[in-house]
Amino acid sequence: MSHPILSVESLCKNYGDLKILRDINFAIEPGDFLVLVGPSGCGKSTLLSCIGGLTEPTSGQIAIDGADITHADPSKRDIAMVFQSYALFPNMDVAHNIGFGLEVRKVPQEERTDKINEVAELLKITQLLDRFPAQLSGGQRQRVAMGRALVRDPKLFLFDEPLSNLDAKLRVTMRTEIKRLHERLGATMIYVTHDQIEAMTLATKILVMKDGIIQQAGTPKQIYNQPANMFVAGFMGAPSMNLCHADIMLTEEGAQIAISRQNSEPIILTDYAPPEGLLRLDNKQVIIGLRPEALTDRAPETDAPAQMTECLLDVVEPAGSDTFAQIVMAGAEVTARLHGDIDVRSGNRLPIYFDLSKISYFDPDTEQRI
Ligand code: ADP
Ligand code: MG
Repeated sequence: MSHPILSVESLCKNYGDLKILRDINFAIEPGDFLVLVGPSGCGKSTLLSCIGGLTEPTSGQIAIDGADITHADPSKRDIAMVFQSYALFPNMDVAHNIGFGLEVRKVPQEERTDKINEVAELLKITQLLDRFPAQLSGGQRQRVAMGRALVRDPKLFLFDEPLSNLDAKLRVTMRTEIKRLHERLGATMIYVTHDQIEAMTLATKILVMKDGIIQQAGTPKQIYNQPANMFVAGFMGAPSMNLCHADIMLTEEGAQIAISRQNSEPIILTDYAPPEGLLRLDNKQVIIGLRPEALTDRAPETDAPAQMTECLLDVVEPAGSDTFAQIVMAGAEVTARLHGDIDVRSGNRLPIYFDLSKISYFDPDTEQRI
């Protein structure tokens, strides 16, 4: 039987009384691009650092290709890391920076030069090989840091927020390049970010973390469409998923859902049978989650059940290809995603269509998906 390229089991890290990583379990297969995403301080760097061997875990196991490396020296792990702070040697030119790891491993000069040239070509920095780090732009330094990892051809690449020092436009360009590089090399990568868009666009698998706990593991589509709890629902996707209180009403025709807030007219979702699990809730209250794109100004073109309700547009924010609107729905303020070409302004009333097939339901007590 083949082993996963990396497996992490029951991993915990404490600093004194502080529990930074709590029972982390996951495995990745060769060629995976795993993104660890979560808010700042949730333990992403600590986890990456345990895998890379720079931080000693308190308990648990880490294995590469089936071999336990939990306490192995970093140099024995066949892993290359790229940090947020690039950590280039200022007194070495780009070629030496890229080749340093090979030099340490006593790779012969000729082979080193070939490797450096090959990687430089891949990263389009051949013309920079004799420059020093101080003579490079942020994006160029980032490429050199990548080159230093790529030249080693390791079993596993670890990236800790490698794009966070770049300006917004360059981040997007480099993101595309990292994705192209991954596809071209077929390499196995773990990538840490607090940016949910980076996670969605790069990953083959995502781990969403909060407070040292994995909240959900899945493909980008699973995480986006079936968030496991209210934290994941709110964290992944921009603008965020709308979360509203609703009541489950049992009528003669069956169960109905009423989106409601105190002192406001409820919106009743008609012709719609809520999922079985909802009927078992004791207090008959539920949180419904609707992505902005499930609230829009035109009826969905699919057969999906839809419902129309007239809503007040509180604030209208044109964004080119889309227009986002804060709308008041049964007394709650929610975000709708309207078409880019729509001609409306704040204060208008507009029929809004709900795509009822896209609703997520959460238990208000546990905040877990139903
Ligand atoms: P992230 O990368 O997700 O932003 P980190 O893994 O860097 O988070 O940090 C997680 C938590 O661990 C933070 O609260 C941080 O303050 C704490 N932490 C990290 N390193 C140490 C340390 N050496 N001693 C004590 N606490 C630490
Ligand atoms: Mg970090």
